[in-house]
Amino acid sequence: MIQTSGLSKSFHDLHVLKGIDLRIAAQEIVVLLGPSGSGKSTLLRCLNGLEDPSGGSLEVNGIRVDADMPASKKRASFRDIRRDTGMVFQQFNLYPHKTVLGNVIESLLIVKKLPRTEAESIGMRLLERVGLADKRDQYPSRLSGGQQQRVAIARALATEPSVMLFDEPTSALDPELVGEVLAVMRELAGEGMTMAVVTHEMKFARQVANRVLFMDGGIIVEEQAPEAFFQHPQSERARKFLNQLN
Ligand code: ADP
Ligand code: MG
Repeated sequence: MIQTSGLSKSFHDLHVLKGIDLRIAAQEIVVLLGPSGSGKSTLLRCLNGLEDPSGGSLEVNGIRVDADMPASKKRASFRDIRRDTGMVFQQFNLYPHKTVLGNVIESLLIVKKLPRTEAESIGMRLLERVGLADKRDQYPSRLSGGQQQRVAIARALATEPSVMLFDEPTSALDPELVGEVLAVMRELAGEGMTMAVVTHEMKFARQVANRVLFMDGGIIVEEQAPEAFFQHPQSERARKFLNQLN
């Protein structure tokens, strides 16, 4: 479903991604771990074109981007990739002037150009899935952080993406609100969604991930099944990272 080959990204002379080779199969849940600044967000952002890769190539559900493609072709491919990818950020990034339902159906109206009634019925199904049907007419500022993030997930699901990318989706939440967001993510995983998740929730990584990738300094240092990674990290860097969490 996702494949990268020698993917690199530099900001001027700062080499942030130094040749990432990644494969994520359909329905696989991959958790990305690594210290702050190791390039996790940049990797996710390169996958859907929020960052323009500097080198290498990537493919998402059969749509390919080479870093050295002509700019117009690259833009078109990334537009297709973004339509097939849902992204959820640490900051929920909801539209403040739209209601909960308005947020969820925005892409259905604008991108898919569905009639409003049809978009609303899809939107309500999504809100039911994340347990927020009763909040349909509220504005985001009236919701808790956990509720806002569940709306953001519903919004990301609206266009029926093949892949969901999560960048620290619970890091901005008060501890007591983390569980409700993870519960929605677990359910998605159980339904067979393909997911790449940057998170510091180690219990989620252990229980839900099929694979853990450990990044440091812009490379994938280690790649293991969660139990193996947490019990027997192979690299010194991963051992140090895990020790600092305890
Ligand atoms: P992580 O998500 O693992 O904490 P990031 O991918 O956010 O790491 O960042 C990796 C490195 O890239 C950091 O040194 C960060 O400062 C740098 N970086 C990220 N985005 C930009 C940008 N737009 N311009 C310049 N440097 C950036
Ligand atoms: Mg980050």
